[in-house]
Amino acid sequence: MKRVVLLGPPGVGKGTQAGLISKKYDLLHISTGDIFRANIKEGTPLGKTAAGYMEKGLLVPDELVCDLVEDRLTKDDCENGYLLDGFPRTVFQAERFDAWLAARGESLSVVLDIQASNDILMERAVGRRLCPKCGMSFHVKYNPPKAEGICDNCGSELMQRADDRAETVSKRLQVYADQTSPLVEYYKGTGKLAEVEGSRTVPEIFEDICALLGE
Ligand code: AMP
Repeated sequence: MKRVVLLGPPGVGKGTQAGLISKKYDLLHISTGDIFRANIKEGTPLGKTAAGYMEKGLLVPDELVCDLVEDRLTKDDCENGYLLDGFPRTVFQAERFDAWLAARGESLSVVLDIQASNDILMERAVGRRLCPKCGMSFHVKYNPPKAEGICDNCGSELMQRADDRAETVSKRLQVYADQTSPLVEYYKGTGKLAEVEGSRTVPEIFEDICALLGE
């Protein structure tokens, strides 16, 4: 039973790797960004609050995200382990999450930190295209769909995430450097950090991750 955190800047491939990891290790993939996007689509109050921050490339307030994740992790489907993608994102969130786990007699198995240079991240994020229906992710250059603009998996029209435009990606990279990168030191201190070189291909990165997670 594994509790895994995926850490890394926007565009490094956390979502793609999360899909592969959750399948191979049968871990529930929980992406806070996906939860917010689903709420925005449904027009919920949470979605309306989150959208104001996300459109600007800013983080949603800590307390709100922590309440949301803690509530999600108490559901039965998390009992066999989970993979957190996009949470924690600040030292506040990480400290509160560790305290929450400790109060339940639990702890994280490993924190996978995927890294790549800002040039690579910018190119990956701006070229990213997503299927709004099945969630499959593509890249115009590195992982193009068979028919331009159409999902290979379900035939829907692909979209660009509103916050994947160049200007917002720069802001998100800045927010990552300021608010999220201190988490690397935080998790080094807890002995849970494992570093993964994210500038290579999807299968190469996945191979390294599997070596770290074991069978
Ligand atoms: P992502 O899909 O992980 O890139 O997240 C998209 C956006 O959702 C981020 O730019 C934030 O605005 C918001 N978000 C997702 N996860 C968190 C988090 N743990 N803390 C604060 N904001 C978050």
